[in-house]
Amino acid sequence: MAKRIFMATAAKKDYLKGLVPYRIKRYWAYIAATVVALVLPWIKVGDNHFFLLNFDHKQLHFMFVRFDMQELYIMPFLLMLLFLGIFALTAFAGRAWCGWACPQTIFRVLYRDFLETKLLGIRKNIKNKQKEPDWSKTENKVKEGIAILIWSALALVAAADFMWYFVPPEDFFKYLQNPAEHTVMIGFVLGVAAFLVADVVFIKESFCVYICPYSRVQSVLFDEDTLMAVYDPIRGGKIYEGHGEEKHKIVNKQKDVLAQNPDNECTACES
Ligand code: SF4
Repeated sequence: MAKRIFMATAAKKDYLKGLVPYRIKRYWAYIAATVVALVLPWIKVGDNHFFLLNFDHKQLHFMFVRFDMQELYIMPFLLMLLFLGIFALTAFAGRAWCGWACPQTIFRVLYRDFLETKLLGIRKNIKNKQKEPDWSKTENKVKEGIAILIWSALALVAAADFMWYFVPPEDFFKYLQNPAEHTVMIGFVLGVAAFLVADVVFIKESFCVYICPYSRVQSVLFDEDTLMAVYDPIRGGKIYEGHGEEKHKIVNKQKDVLAQNPDNECTACES
């Protein structure tokens, strides 16, 4: 039996050869989204930005075209297009936005997977993202303090980047030299940064479950043809039994899944 399990696992590895996992492709998407978000406010064509809603000069820039306040009636149409685009994406590709481009996901991956796990080793690995580190260890508490400090600096950059879509970088840095006259702008940046620290460090995935309005409407936008990344018991093997509150796990290790059928592909990662 052990030999059969080994052969089946080896065969799976052959079939996976040369395949870049979606987990890695998501990192590429995160880097691309971050670079675009950081670079876009700096790009100007004919003195106009790609997107800028500037209350200071009463202007809206969109696709490098400048509109003044009298033309602000186009804003609702832009918002409608944005929401229709997100709804269409959800109907076709399910939670693609959540998994591949949402800042909440990118920030949590950066904080939990890179800072807490890879850089500081508070978590042993990211196989089971739900498993909390051992907080009784002083070493882990000190490392968590360092992680919060690093993230606070990054949160300030993210908050400033957000602000650049309302106050362009050329004005932003000028205003920073005279903080007493721009307390609203500075207070806004500090407020957003403080929220990002609270969200990413303490609220974590509960933000998606209890706060995000988009997650509330997702399920009604799905139909039978929507692409969804969900567990497939036919491919992976049966790991749960029962329904609702009665539902319970019947296997915890990969060898138990393979014992059901050596072709089962579940790795019992619990993620
Ligand atoms: S549920 Fe909301 S906050 Fe969470 S990943 Fe999706 S869009 Fe982002």
